[in-house]
Amino acid sequence: MDVKIKNIRKEFARFPALHDLSLDIASGELIALLGPSGSGKTTLLRLIAGLEQPTEGQIFFGNEDASLKSVQMRNIGFVFQHYALFRHMTVAENIAFGLKVRPSATRPPKAEIRKRVADLLDMVQLSGLEKRYPNQLSGGQRQRVALARAMAIEPSVLLLDEPFGALDAKVRKELRRWLREFHDRTGHTTVFVTHDQEEALELADRVVVMSQGKIEQVGTADDVYDRPGSPFVFSFIGSSSELPVTLKQGAVHFNDRPIGIADQGEGRARLFFRPQDVVLTDGAEALSGKVTACRRLAGTRIAEIDIAHGAGSSDKAHHVEIEVPLDAPVTLGGDLSFRPTRWRLFLES
Ligand code: ATP
Repeated sequence: MDVKIKNIRKEFARFPALHDLSLDIASGELIALLGPSGSGKTTLLRLIAGLEQPTEGQIFFGNEDASLKSVQMRNIGFVFQHYALFRHMTVAENIAFGLKVRPSATRPPKAEIRKRVADLLDMVQLSGLEKRYPNQLSGGQRQRVALARAMAIEPSVLLLDEPFGALDAKVRKELRRWLREFHDRTGHTTVFVTHDQEEALELADRVVVMSQGKIEQVGTADDVYDRPGSPFVFSFIGSSSELPVTLKQGAVHFNDRPIGIADQGEGRARLFFRPQDVVLTDGAEALSGKVTACRRLAGTRIAEIDIAHGAGSSDKAHHVEIEVPLDAPVTLGGDLSFRPTRWRLFLES
């Protein structure tokens, strides 16, 4: 089932949580909503589920306007961060719940429910644990039961709100891989909320980067990491440094000096680059500063550099981080010059 979100606005007591947001989700896609706390991820998920109503705008499930459909009619599978399993029900009863509570006209026969539960247990790799109660399971197992329960109703759309948020790093990683395989096998349209960028980039077909109730960028992991469309996305995804620069006479200037990067623009701009996209240089046209820290990071070394800005002693220094070769002569307190080899400029309006 494809989902179209058209010009959605959501206010809570006049507070705009989402502004004029549009998004097309293709059938079978695995989409991550990624953004800092308060950016509106959960609100968007709840609107898709029908747990909230938009102040303005529309949501379509296929060609049908979802506002005409109740939460039940939307046929959504929902999994929250804190696996809200029914504690007094066994694993099998939890998974069967959504089918058992259906009105008799649409409820499958008992034998079919039993078969579906067995198939789902197999799919989430929990066969043999059907008689256990939630408190007899690990966090990761409970979360897989929650997913199986959400899948039992054969949802048109699966919505996951920080599904692995409460779990430790190792289990998160395992479940991540498992969810990707599970999605590839079942092909359900899935939207999941996360503030963990690694999770979003690794799992999703497309990542929706959100900030302050707006979509900043929608794209594949490569799009948002290699081609960030805004200063927010550049600084939010991966590591990066930023410097205020001026574009003039075909070159990028910092502190009124050319830094060895050509550009035909004019005016003030923000220069962004990633730590690994630099080369050390002793040429005149470069960025230079004092090394304030140097740390080993697996196979590389990261140097932190303060680049003085302005002529006066009161002017602030800009802090940047660059990757340096292990054998580079870097000394704490010493000077280091470098030049970005890949960068992005955002003109200031
Ligand atoms: P987090 O990662 O912290 O869960 P989020 O990106 O999911 O954040 P939302 O929960 O969607 O963000 O909240 C977006 C904004 O809307 C926040 O500023 C929040 O305070 C506000 N908000 C959310 N729900 C309500 C509500 N029921 N009443 C009033 N304000 C709300």
